[in-house]
This record gives sequence, C-alpha cells and structure tokens, in this order.
Amino acid sequence: MVGKETYLEFLREYGLSEAEVLPMFDFDKLPENVRKYSHGMLLHAYLNRDKLDDFERDLITRWIEQIPKKKNSNSLVSYLLGEIRDEFKLIDVEVSKNCFAGVFPTNSFNAQCLLKNGGYLILIDTGFIEIVEAVVTAFFSDNDTVEKENFIFKTIMEYCENYTIPNVKSGDFPGYESLRYRQEIIATKLANSFILTHELGHIFNGHCDNNSNSMFFDVPLVENSSRLQLIKKSFVQEFEADAWAAYNLIKRSELLGKGQRIYIELTCLGQVVCLGLAALLEGYYKKKGMYVDSHPSTKERIYNLQFLYELMGHEDKISLASEFLEIIEKVFYKFNHDYLEIPFLDREYNRTFFEVVDKMNLPVDIPKSMREFI
Ligand SMILES: [Zn+2]
Repeated sequence: MVGKETYLEFLREYGLSEAEVLPMFDFDKLPENVRKYSHGMLLHAYLNRDKLDDFERDLITRWIEQIPKKKNSNSLVSYLLGEIRDEFKLIDVEVSKNCFAGVFPTNSFNAQCLLKNGGYLILIDTGFIEIVEAVVTAFFSDNDTVEKENFIFKTIMEYCENYTIPNVKSGDFPGYESLRYRQEIIATKLANSFILTHELGHIFNGHCDNNSNSMFFDVPLVENSSRLQLIKKSFVQEFEADAWAAYNLIKRSELLGKGQRIYIELTCLGQVVCLGLAALLEGYYKKKGMYVDSHPSTKERIYNLQFLYELMGHEDKISLASEFLEIIEKVFYKFNHDYLEIPFLDREYNRTFFEVVDKMNLPVDIPKSMREFI
C-alpha cells in the first residue's frame, strides 16, 4: 500500500527530504496584525459558529480541529485527500485507497500523478496551495479590482521569476472583519480539492497505469538538476480528469450543501481559480520557451468546465467564477500583452468535449441543438 513512507522514499531518490520540499513559511514570524488573517480568521469563524449554517459549522469545526495537525502543506493535503475519499462515498464514488499525496518542487504549477510500488503518488507542486490561498484571500477582500489585479500579478510574477512563495496573507486585505471570510476559507479549500480530485480522476480512469502505448515526458525540478519522468496523458484524458473532478465535486456540494446556491458558486469558483492561475503560469512559461507541461490549453479546459456547469443546471451559479475570470483576463494581458479570450461557443472545443462526456457516460444531457454545433 502506498503511504507516507513511499513518498519519503521517492523524495530520497531525488536527494530531497520532506523539510526541503515544503514551502518555507514560518507562521510565527508573521506580524501580529497579519497573523490574525490566517488562524485568526478560522478562530473568528469558530467563535461565531452559531451564525453559520450546519454545513459551514461542520466544515469550519473540522478544519479548526485540524490546525494542530495542519503543521504544513503535506498534512493539509493528506487531510483533504482523506476527506474527499470519505465524502465521495456519499455520492457512490470509490476513491483508490492505494494513493498518497504530497508536495514536490517542479515548476509546472500543477499536480502530477505517478505509479510507485503498485500504487499512486500524487505530487502537488510546492507553493501551489499558498498561492491559491493568497489569491483567493485577495479576491474576497474589500480591495478594488485594480488592487486585486496588481496583487495577483505580483504574486505570480514573484513565483515565476524567483520561486517566491507568498506568506499566507502577504498582502493588505481589508474587509476581513466581515463574515465573508468564511467564503474565502471554503473557496480555498475547494480549489485545493479540485487539484487533488483532478489527479484522482486520472487514477480512477486508468490514465496513470503504464502500458505498451505509454509515452513519457519529463518536468524539470526547481533548484535540482534531476527531472521528473511522467506518463504523458492525452488532451482527452486531461479533459476527462477535469470533468470527473468537477462533476463529482459539484455533486458532493449539492448533497452536503443541501442545495444552497452559495456552495455551488464556491465550488465552481474553486475550480476556475485553479485553471485561471494555471493559465497565467502557462502564458508566462510559454513566452519564456520553458513550457513543459502536458496539459492542454487552459482556455479549452475553462470552456469545458463552463459547459459542464450549464449541463448540470448551474449556469446561474457562476457569478463568482466569472468575476474571478475577469480579473484573470486582465492579469493575463499584463503578462502577455495578449488576450486570454475564452470563446463563447466553439465547434472544435464542442467536438472534443462531447466526446469526453460520452466516453465517460456522464449523466448529463447535451441538448440536440448543441449536439449539432460541432
Ligand atoms: Zn492532468
């Protein structure tokens, strides 16, 4: 069975230790007024738990209980994986027990999955969790749109150029005395869950299993001359993993959030956050000629997700996701002097997307008029 020991052994093969791959973040070194935004935010939520609904209370209480164990990104990732495993059972999805997730220092700003000792290791790029958290916090703050754009631009630029990982709350984010922070906590968590679930989608659909057709590619490591060799997945497989993750996470939120629209909104937002940030990094690395990831263009991945939300009857619950995407489009332009432009309707994208939906037997209906738009 693949577990923490397999992961540590894998790190040793690259001459790395767990302490070296974790983001260098010392909570205690933060100034008091900044510190309150992280653990303080959760504590505030906990103390005000009578104002929360059952789902929020349950979620935040469990999150609080994790703090003593949440020493670093790896314990957080393990916790999230366990939670996805337990909660997916409620929607009749069995997630493999033979996998372990931990952070790893590639420059792909993604997660990767590989076969190891007969099970699967999910490797999440070091810094991913911290960037997501900083960006989502900025998004929910009272700052104006331009300040949010500038913060996201600066955060991504520093990560790309210097591999600087933001402190949990390295920006100035007014407005956190309001109850809105609880949405920030949930959205951050759902974004991290999407990255993990995308990899679980690869595992579930057999994309990580080695066979005679497997092609390989490798990803450079940060500050290390080794490269990480991975099975190259097809674009269709990437779309399948996205659809599997998005569909099941929405089903989980429908069930646990008891139909309240805010949870669907936050679930869609979390997914768009991951892909929006990936679009920025993809743009940056492509421009520098350093792009080595095997994922298809994020433009098409976002298009597919938006289509899926519509097919699941949630097209009216994407206002937060759309608002976030507008910011990402502005930041993308700052980076690339080019537009991200996600098409409204695209025949070629449709053709691939319908193929994915059919192949996976996703229980959604594509209207006949759409079927013909290929
Ligand atoms: Zn993938």
